[in-house]
Amino acid sequence: MNDLSGQVAVITGSTSGIGLALARAVAARGGDVVLNGLGDPSEIERTRAGIEAACGVRVRYHAADMRRGEEVADLVAFAKHELGRLDVLVNNAGVQHVEAIEKFPSEKWDQIIAVNLSSAFYAIRAAVPIMKAQGRGRIVNVASAHGLRASPFKSAYVAAKHGVIGLTKTVALETARDGITCNAICPGFVETPIVERQIADQARTHGISKDRVVEEVILAKQPTKRFVTSDELTGLFLYLVSDLGASATGGSFSIDGGWTAQ
Ligand code: NAD
Repeated sequence: MNDLSGQVAVITGSTSGIGLALARAVAARGGDVVLNGLGDPSEIERTRAGIEAACGVRVRYHAADMRRGEEVADLVAFAKHELGRLDVLVNNAGVQHVEAIEKFPSEKWDQIIAVNLSSAFYAIRAAVPIMKAQGRGRIVNVASAHGLRASPFKSAYVAAKHGVIGLTKTVALETARDGITCNAICPGFVETPIVERQIADQARTHGISKDRVVEEVILAKQPTKRFVTSDELTGLFLYLVSDLGASATGGSFSIDGGWTAQ
């Protein structure tokens, strides 16, 4: 289950947080990786070169903007062209904006739908022919507990993540006989930059400390009262991309400290 040597993974939004943790996990198990995401170019290059040197695998970076479908398709084509194949596609890039529906800015709605939902469509559409030709493929969409439950003030994010789960099920049905699986991982709160920004915003809005925001706002719905860790997500991810995960397709797998049990 842990050997990914000879495999190639594309992970969108892998310059930070969960995507970067999954990229490191693939490389540590011998897989080649295409990184993608925003950030300072010299820092990204340091990360890329660091993983490559530490793991002895090929690591490339592609700067596709997940808001642009043609760039997303180009990222997938780049993996095949540069590294020779495509075994694992992780649709992970995501953004958030928290605001009441009547004030929610149109450009934020468009950005969130594009990055969190449409980019997965463009990447999957480009990846499936390559995976079909190989007779095997693994697609993992990083959705959210918000793909299964709503919270106020997160209309675009909740809509996009519910959409990702619908897309996941549809792709699973269409590829079920092709050796391809397509699944969604639905994390609860994980302590990454996307959440750190929300903690800072909420502390400002409510005029309370960041510790109180974590306890009373962020982890209010997470019965374990602690953040999910990237390692815990990695464990499920490694199962889904392994041969043992061959019959797990179309699923939405919660790792949320009990959130969606409520
Ligand atoms: P993060 O902010 O650390 O990472 C987001 C990644 O997406 C970054 O690499 C960023 O550069 C990239 N990205 C954003 N806009 C982009 C664009 N236009 N083009 C290319 N890349 C872009 O946050 P994270 O927590 O690691 O989030 C990863 C995924 O996990 C997201 O889809 C998020 O919705 C999901 N998620 C996170 C949590 C959590 O609590 N952190 C919970 C559930 C789901």
